[in-house]
Amino acid sequence: MRIRKTSLLFGLSCLVVFGCIVLLLGRNKNLVGDEQNDVEDLERKVKELERDLQRNYEIVQKIGKSVSDLLKQSSGQGEAEYLKATEIKQVQQMLDGTTKECGFVEQAPLQPDVQMLKLYSKMKFDNPDGGAWKQGWDVQYDEGQYSENNKLKVFVVPHSHNDPGWIKTFQKYYEDQTRHILNNMVRKVGEEENRKFIWAEISYLDFWWKESDPQTRDKLKQLVDNGQIEIVTGGWVMNDEANTHYYAIIEQLTTGHEWLKQKLNFSPRNGWAIDPFGFSSSMAYLLKRSGLENMVIQRVHYAVKKVMSAQKNLEFRWRQNWDRDGQTDMLCHMMPFYSYDIPHTCGPDPKICCQFDFRRLSSSGQTPIHCPWKVPPQPITESNVQRRAALLLDQYRKKSSLYKTNVLMIQLGDDFRYDTAAEFDQQFINYQKLFDYMNSRSDWFVEAQFGTLKDYFDSLRASVAQSVDRFPSLSGDFFTYADIDDHYWSGYFTSRPFYKQLDRVLESYLRSAEIIYSMTWSHLHRMSAVPERSRNWMGRMMALLSQSRRHLGLFQHHDGITGTEKDHVVQDYAKMMQNGIQNSQMIIQQCAHFLLHPDQANYEPQLDTLHFSVDDEYSKPNELPLKSLIRLQKSKRRIVFYNSLASERIQVVTLRTSHYNVEVMNDQSKPINIQVSPVFITSHQLSSEEFEISFLVSVPPLGMSTYTIRQFDGSIQENAHLEVSRIVVRESRSIDSVAPFTVDIKEQFEPFTLENSNLKATFDSNGLLTSISQDRRETVSIAIQFVRYGTRGGNQAMSGAYLFLPDGPAKLLEPNAEDNRVRIVRGSIRSQVVATLPFVVHQVTLHRSPGIDGLNLDIDNLINLSGQSNVEVAMRLVTSVDSGTAFYSDLNGLQMTRREKWEQLPLQAQFYPMPAMAYIEDSTTRITLATKQPLGVASLSPGQLEVMLDRRLNQDDNRGLGQGVLDNVIPTLNSFRLLVERRIVSCKGSHEGRRPDGYPSLSAHRSLHGLLYPVHQLVWNVGDGDEQLDGGPTLMTLHGSFKPALSESGSDIHVVNLRTATRLPDDQAVEPLSSVSLVLHRLGFDCCFPPLGLNSSTANNGEFSLAKLFPDYFGDRVRSMSLTSLGTQGPAIEKSFTIALKPMEIYTFELQP
Ligand SMILES: [Zn+2]
Repeated sequence: MRIRKTSLLFGLSCLVVFGCIVLLLGRNKNLVGDEQNDVEDLERKVKELERDLQRNYEIVQKIGKSVSDLLKQSSGQGEAEYLKATEIKQVQQMLDGTTKECGFVEQAPLQPDVQMLKLYSKMKFDNPDGGAWKQGWDVQYDEGQYSENNKLKVFVVPHSHNDPGWIKTFQKYYEDQTRHILNNMVRKVGEEENRKFIWAEISYLDFWWKESDPQTRDKLKQLVDNGQIEIVTGGWVMNDEANTHYYAIIEQLTTGHEWLKQKLNFSPRNGWAIDPFGFSSSMAYLLKRSGLENMVIQRVHYAVKKVMSAQKNLEFRWRQNWDRDGQTDMLCHMMPFYSYDIPHTCGPDPKICCQFDFRRLSSSGQTPIHCPWKVPPQPITESNVQRRAALLLDQYRKKSSLYKTNVLMIQLGDDFRYDTAAEFDQQFINYQKLFDYMNSRSDWFVEAQFGTLKDYFDSLRASVAQSVDRFPSLSGDFFTYADIDDHYWSGYFTSRPFYKQLDRVLESYLRSAEIIYSMTWSHLHRMSAVPERSRNWMGRMMALLSQSRRHLGLFQHHDGITGTEKDHVVQDYAKMMQNGIQNSQMIIQQCAHFLLHPDQANYEPQLDTLHFSVDDEYSKPNELPLKSLIRLQKSKRRIVFYNSLASERIQVVTLRTSHYNVEVMNDQSKPINIQVSPVFITSHQLSSEEFEISFLVSVPPLGMSTYTIRQFDGSIQENAHLEVSRIVVRESRSIDSVAPFTVDIKEQFEPFTLENSNLKATFDSNGLLTSISQDRRETVSIAIQFVRYGTRGGNQAMSGAYLFLPDGPAKLLEPNAEDNRVRIVRGSIRSQVVATLPFVVHQVTLHRSPGIDGLNLDIDNLINLSGQSNVEVAMRLVTSVDSGTAFYSDLNGLQMTRREKWEQLPLQAQFYPMPAMAYIEDSTTRITLATKQPLGVASLSPGQLEVMLDRRLNQDDNRGLGQGVLDNVIPTLNSFRLLVERRIVSCKGSHEGRRPDGYPSLSAHRSLHGLLYPVHQLVWNVGDGDEQLDGGPTLMTLHGSFKPALSESGSDIHVVNLRTATRLPDDQAVEPLSSVSLVLHRLGFDCCFPPLGLNSSTANNGEFSLAKLFPDYFGDRVRSMSLTSLGTQGPAIEKSFTIALKPMEIYTFELQP
């Protein structure tokens, strides 16, 4: 579409009437027929906008600016056509996005009884010695409170905590311990009707199931059916809550729940998370939406536990920060004491409680365990039962006094406990004697018994007549955890960052594989009955998919993604993740080949054939992937781009090729502009065999588009669409030029800039960013620095895998005078700065793109801590933003929450998890940093944001791991996106009033999605020369594109997953079920930032129609489900039905393929 200057100028002159511009820009082709409705729609929007002219003043400016940009571009040289179409969409988008969406963020959330930020602001954290309960106080109670009508009801809950990997690998733990625990559990619990047990980790249950005979399986099923054994949470693992992303949490819950439904026909109702190191409110939300009603948590800061115990607030309704109506409330039970082991669960005095761990009785055949308080347990006999029962009851009553009701939960277990039949006997028999005695004493007013979480919570809810309002509401989260003194567990937010990124890479591939698999499954169903060969093929791919899900699920364990496992255990996980990536790549390329195939009716699946090479090659589990090289000749190579997001993507892609003089054609066989850049083998050597080419691609929502590439038939001077990057370096050594590049070597650098139509980035002479000016207007000072921490020494505890215990404030890493190389590679599509600093090769990339990637800077840091001793390296943004003591970080990528720098807390307590994003802001500006990998983040001074990058620590930190962190991968890559946004004048969003909730802008959401879920490049592996450019013989022609979506889902609606359910037969291979779960998340976003770089509307106000997204796919009926598809919620609806999605909420819909 060409735009005439005259009409644009006319457009500018009628800015006040917003509609003019849109009509002129967007509709100057033909204003007829069904577009009439769109126009009326726009006019309505214009009227709405006019009502609030003041707020929209900046939008007017913005639109004016976009129009002037369009003018500039239309006079520039040969940009691709869609470029302008997209800019036009942006203008329209600005109108759409600002009319309706501010209501949600501007409305303040409900005020809970307890808000964690407020609670923190009042706490002293002074840690006085509490006596027997060291971190509490001398608990007293009134004996007279108990009576015949007010008995103490005690539920003793036997459990065994089984880490799926930590000191040993998952498999080794199973063989050495867990197998025996499960075998003995089924045998010993089944011996008496009043025996109970709970089990959490489905990964282990699956292992056990496979090697158990049908009778033993049935026995387990009976015990679950009659309530003696309760499956709690039912996840594949007990996941970490700091580093995990909600996609992976949902996946590991779904994998566990899918197993439970088919093997035991059981739906978990109660959550159990006793060992994760701090707790996220996102988890409460995800459990609630999965159909759970209650949950238990343990590792919370000791000072928080003390305050909540003193106020009898240990049981509360956990409410989301964003909640406007209390619909997210989840009943949560917090354990009061130091640990979940038996010494810290019967009551406040561990010296007494330890005497009621009968595993510590000397017994033949078991490794002895002693009580550190030096008073051993005694077997319960007729002669001592009165004394022993009275001693224990005193602890029970004291513990009960910390809670609001007379229903009491006592956990009875520890890590890998109950591995022998003898231990089951020791605990069950001795406790039963104690219960029998207690219950026989009518003057003690106590009823004690073994129980499950269900028993406990049923009784608790009955005690308040099902009125949970009796418990306070609470919002916020429980980070950062400290178990003693100033031992803050903020190290694990960053430990083993290489594998933290590998986790996100696997998530991206698995999600893409799930979506394209489900599209293929549906496509086969559309074709009529699924042919047998296709069914087999889909079954074999489902086996790969199912395995990848389990590999991802396993790493979500609280000693997996946390980086707190032994070296060989992290290697074991990494191999599984590598396998998961390879499986997913296999599925993606197989399904892409089928979906693009011209003769699907006669398609012959070949699962062993690599039709396409997908992206990079993950050839080793502990090395960065090998860049795929596209070998070029005169014949065409076909490259398919696959977009797993539900909105169209226009972005710059960079591929590696064997030649520099190349030609790229779009799907209309038109050559497009490309930029060729060098590949540096070392800092002073260019490759003459590999080159990088960059160009803009457009890929439809959830679809594919094809570009072709070949060596250019002519000289490079004749190649009008090729631009050669300009290279300037500061390098002490000489550099040999390699055609077609010339390298300009300079001894000194002056400050310099990189810019595109959205932003201008200024760098200092060392190649480090100093400022960004946006819209060619205001400049925001943003200096990037790198800093290092040491660990404190002497007799104090030192940093390790879990703990961050720095030796004081960070020291600035100055560029090394002798080895301070800077490299600038410039072009009109992609420009890049590479600066070499101590420990870090720092790379900043700017794209010229109308998409999201044209709005932010990409930052990649390659970290090398080899040979270092006790070093932690962080990247610090020092900015002019007046952010005070506050910053915002995310919880599991699901929500943003306000953080404060607390004066009463030490440095290591100021770090929080950053699984996806952080931002700082003031009344005019917001700076957002999106991250590909979870890391620790802090804001230690106003205007600063600091992200830990890697840590190398020589010693253990005494939390059981027994080693330091010295297996750093060299180099480790950290990737980020940096976005600067200007707030629309007088639009307040969620910024005012120290609210605990925060919301990224829509552009920031999309920027993060681009980082987490990149467009995949699939290089078709037909042999060279098979596909001729002109005239020559062609073997076969694949379809150029795949466009399953009629429209985009809306910029604020994110497809979390499209997951085909799996049948898990005991004796045969897995196969796909006729059920596909569509998981949607309606993003909450701050409407005060113009939604730039987007091309789909948000104005549908959360209205979503499956028929519009997938007109030709999936059946006619849709059913609303619980999050993990365990249960239905309401009747099936028509596919064409418009569903209203609420901001921040996640929905699961069951579709038929
Ligand atoms: Zn654990």
